[in-house]
Amino acid sequence: MRKTLIAGNWKMNGSTEMVENLINGVVEGSKKLLKVSTAVCPPYVYIPMVTAATKGSAVGVGSQNISTQASGAFTGEISTSMVKDFGCQYSIIGHSERRTLYGETNEVVAEKFKVVKEAGLIPIFCIGETLEERESNVTEDVLMKQLDAVFAVNGDNAYADCVIAYEPVWAIGTGKTASPEQAQDAHAFIRQHIAKINADNAAAVQILYGGSMNPGNAENLLAQEDIDGGLIGGASLKTEDFMAICQAGE
Ligand code: PEP
Repeated sequence: MRKTLIAGNWKMNGSTEMVENLINGVVEGSKKLLKVSTAVCPPYVYIPMVTAATKGSAVGVGSQNISTQASGAFTGEISTSMVKDFGCQYSIIGHSERRTLYGETNEVVAEKFKVVKEAGLIPIFCIGETLEERESNVTEDVLMKQLDAVFAVNGDNAYADCVIAYEPVWAIGTGKTASPEQAQDAHAFIRQHIAKINADNAAAVQILYGGSMNPGNAENLLAQEDIDGGLIGGASLKTEDFMAICQAGE
């Protein structure tokens, strides 16, 4: 039985005051959850503050990106050992904003996946198609290439101890959500594709939906057989909305 995970991607938002209020609210709200696990991914600079606030709670913490390098002359980069040092358990990799705005290819993302796994962190591996790709009926092909790049670098057991986030690019931050059926179809495809290589990992991997999930649409999305949680952007910045999404998964 896969556990539901609701993870917040705060993106480049926050101030010390806002982060303090938000994380305290999430820690408090998460105490009421019986079935759903929660995690938050703050901007790097707020990670120490957030892990201090989540210490002793069930709220996980992750980075939004990671360097493929271990240490050295890589100005502006942050390594796996650094985020682990500050108590992170997760790292988002391959978010569509990293792919489109910072040129991260499937191959770069697969290398990031590798260093995250080697460090004992859990990748939240984001994949998904653009609107143009969906309209050209190549969604499955795009997902397959994104998944296979990780298999190529990480081997047949790549998807053990990992979280996948299916995030159709056209639904991220746009207010347009995939219908529960569209999302379920993509999630089922992802699971079936992994099962061709490793059936155990396919059955166990948590596949989150991301793309304008909010308190109004979360219940129907989370009710789908292959949707094991959500990666939440905008709605994770308000404690009430984030906790309402978590409650929808209970
Ligand atoms: C995201 O950035 O991962 C995301 C899903 O954003 P939003 O919920 O704002 O669409």
